[in-house]
Amino acid sequence: MHAWIPLLLSLPLTPAQEPSVGPPAVHGAGPEIVAGQVIVRFRAGTSIEEAAGWLDGERFVVDEVLEPKLDLFLVLIADGSSVEQAIEVLSGDARVLYAVPDVKVHTRQTIPNDTSFGQQWSMRNTGQTGGTPDADIDAVEAWDLGTGSSQYVVAIVDGGGQTTHVDLLANRWENAAEVNGTSGVDDDGNGYVDDKYGWNAYNNNGSIPSDSHATHVAGIAGARGNNSTGVAGVNWDVKIMYVAGSTSTTSTVVKAYSYVLKQRDLWMQTGGAKGANVVSANSSFGIDYANCASATYKPWNDMYELMGASGILNAAATINANVNVDVAGDVPTGCTSNWLVTVTNTDHRDLKSSAGYGKVSIDLGAPGTSILSSVPTNGYASYSGTSMATPHVTGAIAFLHSVASPAFKAYYASSPALAALELKAVLLANVDVVTSLNNITVSNGRLNLFEAAKDMAAWGGCAGTLATYCTAKSSSQGKLPAIGWTGSSSQAAGNLVVTLADAVPSKNGIVFWGPLQAANPFQGGTLCVGGTITRGPLTTTGLQGEASYAVTITPAMVGTTSFYQWWFRDPLDLFGYGSGLSDGLSVTFCP
Ligand code: CA
Ligand code: CA
Ligand code: CA
Repeated sequence: MHAWIPLLLSLPLTPAQEPSVGPPAVHGAGPEIVAGQVIVRFRAGTSIEEAAGWLDGERFVVDEVLEPKLDLFLVLIADGSSVEQAIEVLSGDARVLYAVPDVKVHTRQTIPNDTSFGQQWSMRNTGQTGGTPDADIDAVEAWDLGTGSSQYVVAIVDGGGQTTHVDLLANRWENAAEVNGTSGVDDDGNGYVDDKYGWNAYNNNGSIPSDSHATHVAGIAGARGNNSTGVAGVNWDVKIMYVAGSTSTTSTVVKAYSYVLKQRDLWMQTGGAKGANVVSANSSFGIDYANCASATYKPWNDMYELMGASGILNAAATINANVNVDVAGDVPTGCTSNWLVTVTNTDHRDLKSSAGYGKVSIDLGAPGTSILSSVPTNGYASYSGTSMATPHVTGAIAFLHSVASPAFKAYYASSPALAALELKAVLLANVDVVTSLNNITVSNGRLNLFEAAKDMAAWGGCAGTLATYCTAKSSSQGKLPAIGWTGSSSQAAGNLVVTLADAVPSKNGIVFWGPLQAANPFQGGTLCVGGTITRGPLTTTGLQGEASYAVTITPAMVGTTSFYQWWFRDPLDLFGYGSGLSDGLSVTFCP
């Protein structure tokens, strides 16, 4: 036997292109032009007196200097002609560099008309409850970018919910085939009889019990906004799926999650014809001081992994006690799945309430103390706890999907699991760092919807294809050269995504990753995470057909290693480069 040595080639490196960043979604209609005035830039060195002398005083009055270094003036239209006409005339003057309309600028806030919105400090904290102004999630700023979308479903896995609540009804997810179907019959053939608005995992039927906790949680994530009624959810517009199953047993919780997963998978498999586009699930429940790593709780983490593979992020509430979850344990927030987003509770002064924390286990904080939301029957009440903090995050996940750039939406459609992790990374990278969470949570901060939304709206995705290498199928010479770039080529931290196009279906592939001098990629641990490069299989075996693989390039890795590279080979061909390799491999870098 001889060792398999990776092919190490120095390749000309194609620098990553600038990300193509589209304009973020703009809220409302087009610009409002101010009548009766225009902004004019004259040639360099023009004084206000010269400008006034050049223009026909019957038609134009030079009102004031806006910026002397730009020779920029505000010019009033004296003869009643339109802004358009004035611009045409002024633009014809050789001494005018440009003449443009003056446009109304709006405060970057969108405030809903819901009658109790003034009490919703978590959305906009003006100190109205005696708290600290701006200790909030910056919702009114975020709502300038969008207000949610009925295209996205949040699953409220809880005690049920008042599905007919006056402030929730318009945002209720409905399984149309069952709503319009026959009682006692599984009309859409999804395996669940009469699942009109969700599922009752306690009783294995479609009857959703009214439940105040669940109704409250649902309202935070998605009470109808701007309907002149009650409160506004993080999403004014979203679809809420009600799944009862939170206060029972592991087996019931698994059944509840299974329903959510089934609908998401059906939605993907049928191109949206069946199922539901669930992007986030809310888990405001758990088992205090339980060790998720122990065998007893394996099904929990297994479910988060499975749902994550289908692109669902699970926002989970940690214990309502001031304990370090890293040490004390908690289920589910002590579970290790990357697709969990674990949440602790902050108050209106950005202080952590009596709630769990953990530098490893707890991702971020969100407002959860004295939160006004919907309760049965058609009422409102103020509740406190990590249960209330978590739906701010659950809602934020759906919201971020709704405002995301087309590039992100395409990425989510093609690689839901990886895109979900990308969204989580954006969420955590954009928190407001607050003292009370610093050094005791993963992100060190509290949710900021606006900051995350801006990043999602501008998400340019892969900065461009670094290189595409084509090899012939079934060729013993079908070696894929190592691909990479030098650490000195000013690559920022980001993600490297390798996509295998048109892989031979009968073959499995493994992508290897390592620095230039890696002698043997079979040795050396797992995927690089957290700033260290390790060698070894990036992914597990068993991948077939088209697939993509990603690795996070952390800031610590940039510039510290001379070369990053990938290998792809057929594991069935143990001692050579893969015969039967993919005929297309593209590598993209996504800052
Ligand atoms: Ca059904
Ligand atoms: Ca039915
Ligand atoms: Ca409302």
